[in-house]
Amino acid sequence: MPEGDSIWRAATRLNAALAEQVITASDFRVPRFATLNLEGWTMTEVVPRGKHLLMRLVGPADEEPGASRKPRELTIHSHLKMEGSWMVYPPGGRWTKPGHTARCVLRTASADAVGFSLGILEVVPTSEEDRIVGHLGPDLLGPDWDEEEALRRLQAEPDVPIGYALLDQRKLAGIGNIYRCEACFLSGIHPALPVVSVPDLAKTVNDAKRLLGENLGPGLRSTLGPRAMRPGYWVYGRARQPCRRCGTPIRRDVLAAPDGTEERDIYFCPRCQPRH
Ligand SMILES: [Zn+2]
Repeated sequence: MPEGDSIWRAATRLNAALAEQVITASDFRVPRFATLNLEGWTMTEVVPRGKHLLMRLVGPADEEPGASRKPRELTIHSHLKMEGSWMVYPPGGRWTKPGHTARCVLRTASADAVGFSLGILEVVPTSEEDRIVGHLGPDLLGPDWDEEEALRRLQAEPDVPIGYALLDQRKLAGIGNIYRCEACFLSGIHPALPVVSVPDLAKTVNDAKRLLGENLGPGLRSTLGPRAMRPGYWVYGRARQPCRRCGTPIRRDVLAAPDGTEERDIYFCPRCQPRH
């Protein structure tokens, strides 16, 4: 799953290229929307919500007022899931990913935006956005971030392992596997520790928020500090390598969902992050 900062960067890039622009051609390469044509619609903005991308559009003025009952405001909702990406090219520019993986093509006078391998792609009336993202917890990168509400949602399930709770987008939105591992390291807690046993939950959440916020600019991701001159992580992806703090080999393990349905890799330092 992508991290919230990837979505934020994608939204920023797409918004810069598409906002206020009139769609000159659209091509939805998914059966449900294959006949949808958004030519003449204007992209108003592209916004990230957790790991979801919302492209908002307004329709062209009605030639016959009252003749159409179609919604005049639509939102293209996409989710990158594992492999997805949105790329922006100059008009007619050569695509950098295989054409058969393209799911959505939006052309304007100044740019072509192409969504490749999107995990979710749908078009809904903007008024129904809540159905899609209304369940999300406070967005760590959102303008309306609400720490108190995020903590309340985390504490509502005190027995859930913190490493799992941080990934639960209904509790707080934007954290993927990298930042949950890194935030647990920075808090000195084992990812399997139940939420109720986390000594300073607000710190853990704010560590994750800070790491996301520090990675919104261009360049490779790093959690090693705002001025880190090299990309890198404390523990994520570093199995068997020495802990940057204490030298103990980093361990990789799996953390199952509370109902056992899903397992995700966790990385941690057994010395810096004791289980109890
Ligand atoms: Zn260590």
